Amino acid sequence: MAIILAAAAIIILAASARWAWWRRRTAGLEVLCYHKIGTPPPGSKLKELWVSPEKFRAQVKYLLGKGYQTLLFSDLLKIRRGETPLPAKAVLITFDDGYENNYLHAWPILRELGAKGNIFVVFSTIGKANLWHDPASEPWVNMATLDQLREMQASGVIEYGSHTMSHPHLSALSLDDAACEMAEAKRQLEAAFGREMCAFAYPYGDGAYNPPVRTKALEAGYTFDFSFRQGKTPWPWDRAGGPLDRLFIKGSDTIWDLALQLSRGASRL
Ligand SMILES: [Zn+2]
Repeated sequence: MAIILAAAAIIILAASARWAWWRRRTAGLEVLCYHKIGTPPPGSKLKELWVSPEKFRAQVKYLLGKGYQTLLFSDLLKIRRGETPLPAKAVLITFDDGYENNYLHAWPILRELGAKGNIFVVFSTIGKANLWHDPASEPWVNMATLDQLREMQASGVIEYGSHTMSHPHLSALSLDDAACEMAEAKRQLEAAFGREMCAFAYPYGDGAYNPPVRTKALEAGYTFDFSFRQGKTPWPWDRAGGPLDRLFIKGSDTIWDLALQLSRGASRL
């Protein structure tokens, strides 16, 4: 009996060191952050940024099965303006950068299952590759083309936000250059897609908690700015208090990780 209890205690301790189930449930806006949907290419050192299509499908099914409504940025804008209430169970599915694999693998799954998603696009790499990475450490892959992005928008399944012109570390630039990266991307993306770009995500999260950079993001006219920090942000949102945090889905995450992310704001220590 003592041995069984000891074994049970060890299992619980081990699980507690891996998963954050013991954390308190937290309230706040639930924003999932994905990057690439597919299989990592040989040599990728950022494998955790790749989620397989099978896992992505299971995660979206889980959300819909739990009664979540998947919001577009334009839905969040209406909620922010008080035109519609925030649904009791709402989630934003976001993708950073604008990869072609979002078009090839994520969009068909969202469309088939009846869910919505949002992509933060780097304007100057549309139809090119993830040129901000050193290819020696992270292989280049295709970014979605303008035609692919427009096709996804026309389906009503995908909306866009801005992720700067060239994916720089904004804090490393002069404040004028950082402001230009954010304001010019908004202008160019709005011209390309004929829609307001109300949302912005800081590349690498850099600048989200740097007040002068953040001020420039808000001055550029974005209503929403999204960080790269793990967590949920209380809603209604105190915009002056800081950006919106997100829940990062890793390639190795299980459905239980997703459930903990949604309820606790984190799945791991
Ligand atoms: Zn990025």
